[in-house]
Amino acid sequence: MEITKEMIERTVTPLKKKDLGKKVITEAWEPKLEYAWDNGPALSRYLAELKNGRLIGKVCRKCGRIQLPPRLFCEQCWVPTDDWVYVKDTGTINTFCISHVDWAAGRLDIEGGERPFTPAVIEIDGASPGEGILHMIDGVDPDKIKIGMRVKAVWKPAEEREGSITDIEYFKPIRPPAKKKARKKAKKSRKKARK
Ligand SMILES: [Zn+2]
Repeated sequence: MEITKEMIERTVTPLKKKDLGKKVITEAWEPKLEYAWDNGPALSRYLAELKNGRLIGKVCRKCGRIQLPPRLFCEQCWVPTDDWVYVKDTGTINTFCISHVDWAAGRLDIEGGERPFTPAVIEIDGASPGEGILHMIDGVDPDKIKIGMRVKAVWKPAEEREGSITDIEYFKPIRPPAKKKARKKAKKSRKKARK
């Protein structure tokens, strides 16, 4: 790959051409990587269900855990997993980060209005605690994202889905149902109080 001026400028620590070969060692190498990777039965079904707009997990009857994504084996009990089970497309943020670096390892132009990337690990409702997926959070100011925040999947339109994790565009925050109820109750009692 040729190192262009633009690529150098977009790295976090800008390099000068004269740094190459001195401060920075370079190596030209043309990799010829050939490999095949099979999804296997569990992940194949998981991806097929994403195309249907659904998340599916697998149950281990021995420990009762619901895995997401599904695996053919329970890595805790060391036995084959049993039933398939649909889980929800809502969940809770377990952890997240605010990234100012783009996919090509260049700086995002935050001052120019680009939004930082905000990937998160999301524990999915209906799966066991700790079972979840890595996905992007959007539809919220990155500084407002919190661990424990409730989120819901934003799906691509059905005709655009292709059996990939990107069939979910991102997860957006939702109001916790308990608090929503409490707010309604408070509103009702305020109304009552005014009468
Ligand atoms: Zn198990």
